[in-house]
Amino acid sequence: MNFAHFPPMPDFPPGEVWLAGAGPGDPRLLTLLALHAVSAADDIVHDALIDPKVLALKRDEAELIPAGKRGGRPSLHQNDINDILIDRARAGRRVLRLKGGDPFVFGRGWDEVLALAEAGIRYRLIPGVTSGLAATALAGIPATTRETNHAVVLAAGHRADDEQSSADWEALARLGQPIILYMPMTQLAGITAALMKGGMAADTPAALLHAATTEQERVVDSTLGRLVEDAQANGIGSPAIVVIGAVAGLRQQVLSGLVGWR
Ligand code: SAH
Repeated sequence: MNFAHFPPMPDFPPGEVWLAGAGPGDPRLLTLLALHAVSAADDIVHDALIDPKVLALKRDEAELIPAGKRGGRPSLHQNDINDILIDRARAGRRVLRLKGGDPFVFGRGWDEVLALAEAGIRYRLIPGVTSGLAATALAGIPATTRETNHAVVLAAGHRADDEQSSADWEALARLGQPIILYMPMTQLAGITAALMKGGMAADTPAALLHAATTEQERVVDSTLGRLVEDAQANGIGSPAIVVIGAVAGLRQQVLSGLVGWR
């Protein structure tokens, strides 16, 4: 590899917080900037789903601070996480806040940025590969094609704070665009019923994408009307992405040449 003409990586000055996405799981889907951040940070405040192989890239002296959710319950409250980031930055540490996927896609990244801005802390934002788009692409499901759709909906089936999402599923159904559902499992029955009530056909292609890019990865082809029973029959739990729409059926046309991810 010849990095001679490659843009240099930014300095990570003490007292800054970098908020970075780590991608859907496999360390090879880190961005180069996120990789640089992991290798330069003094403190890494990380989500539960971050692969240990990513965290193992840290400097020997760097401290790992788990701040993710386990069993659906926050092990730390958002305010506590904000305070850790602010306190460590004020103590002159290089603080990396490392989140799964992209920090701003159902990841509470905004809460943390607001807190940092209010506290007068300098911060850098590093986007990540969001799991909804990674899981679909890896399964051979295009988010868009010229023939099928000109928009795609990213929706949370379940809010990060465990409250029922207020999204208007029937209105989303009427858009006629594919829906990529994050955190789909707990509300799947209600969501699929509402989408059908909104006019989406029960035989609309769908797919369940479990633990994409990890060793537990599984893909289950389904339809809107069969999603709940197919999820149960195949024992699909969290983390999973559900994609509903014509694009979910296209993978059948290309599967023969698709090389497995791992
Ligand atoms: N910020 C993250 C999403 C956080 S919400 C992102 O951009 O990807 C957590 C949800 O992300 C999980 O409930 C699941 O729906 C999804 N998810 C994260 N990693 C995943 C993976 N490897 N495979 C499938 N879904 C995943």
